Amino acid sequence: MQKPKSKFIKVRCNDCENEQALFEKASTTVHCHICGSKLAIPRGGKAKIKGKILEIIE
Ligand SMILES: [Zn+2]
Repeated sequence: MQKPKSKFIKVRCNDCENEQALFEKASTTVHCHICGSKLAIPRGGKAKIKGKILEIIE
């Protein structure tokens, strides 16, 4: 049996440098907690990441 791989990634906001963990396959748009900037946009599978990816948390 195979488990589906799901990862969290740590992303830094381009606008305010807030660091935030989010799901790699986000199904909804993820906004920065601090400034509301878009950090991830769902794209049928992996989300498109708008900020800078700092770390992948498995
Ligand atoms: Zn921000």
